[in-house]
Amino acid sequence: MLLIHCPYCGEDRSELEFRGAGDAHIARPTNMADISDAEFEAFFFLRQNPKGIIYERWRHIHGCGRFFNAVRDTVSDRFIKTYKAGEPKPDINAAPATDAKVETYEALEGDAR
Ligand SMILES: [Zn+2]
Repeated sequence: MLLIHCPYCGEDRSELEFRGAGDAHIARPTNMADISDAEFEAFFFLRQNPKGIIYERWRHIHGCGRFFNAVRDTVSDRFIKTYKAGEPKPDINAAPATDAKVETYEALEGDAR
């Protein structure tokens, strides 16, 4: 099972406690009433969906209930960093490399034998 770090609770918790909430750092137009339908479509629906590093919003729905942002690799499904909503997009190149293995229930069961 995937563990996700909630930056508000300060703990790694089961993925079952969280819900994804789409892309992070999407700027809402300040002139919403004046934009065209095509501009609204681009803001509301169109996303890059790249292979690799993405910035997402997540909510600790069965915990503190708060929204936060995460940097995740879509190839490995590894969460590289989580940070509080409102904080700037982190420079992931400046973050120290981590080789921490993803804990799984299968791994924990294996350790218990
Ligand atoms: Zn939390």
